[in-house]
Amino acid sequence: MNNTMADKEPVNAGSSSVLEGEMCPFCNKKTLTLREAERDVPYFGILYIFSMDCYNEECNYHKADVEVAESHGPVKYTVEIDSEEDMKIRVVKSSTASIKIPHLGSIESGDASNGYITNVEGVLNRIKKQVEEIRDAAEDKAEQKKAKNVIKKITKIIWGQEKIKMILEDPNGNSAIISEKAQKSK
Ligand SMILES: [Zn+2]
Repeated sequence: MNNTMADKEPVNAGSSSVLEGEMCPFCNKKTLTLREAERDVPYFGILYIFSMDCYNEECNYHKADVEVAESHGPVKYTVEIDSEEDMKIRVVKSSTASIKIPHLGSIESGDASNGYITNVEGVLNRIKKQVEEIRDAAEDKAEQKKAKNVIKKITKIIWGQEKIKMILEDPNGNSAIISEKAQKSK
């Protein structure tokens, strides 16, 4: 059998470095751990992953981001999701990227937004968690019912029983949906 590109491990482990006991910019204690890792992502290139974690329990500051070695300029990716297999499609999201799924939900960019590498299922699970929080905080029955329906829909999508469109936009070009099915535009 031929060894196709799809059979390869999608993300290779690269080098990484850790700095412990750094000054936290929020609580000003030396409880911050800085991590930097390098990954080579096929069809995308070299990625740097940065994270800051404060181990002061009263602070718990966390920030993570991804950056590409070469800037690609603003990008927009659109992909149709219609099978269980599509859950594995890799998604690189920087803190400046937003992900939208029409009629379902979104992950917005912003100061509180983190960068990460995940897959379509990971994005859906993050949106599901947001909707679960809305459901639990809902004061009226109608709002609660609406949230419950969205959760049901997400579960069906994860099982490959419903079609959706996922749109990722990043003004800094540090993000991607890595799939032959994904359409890239500026
Ligand atoms: Zn702190």
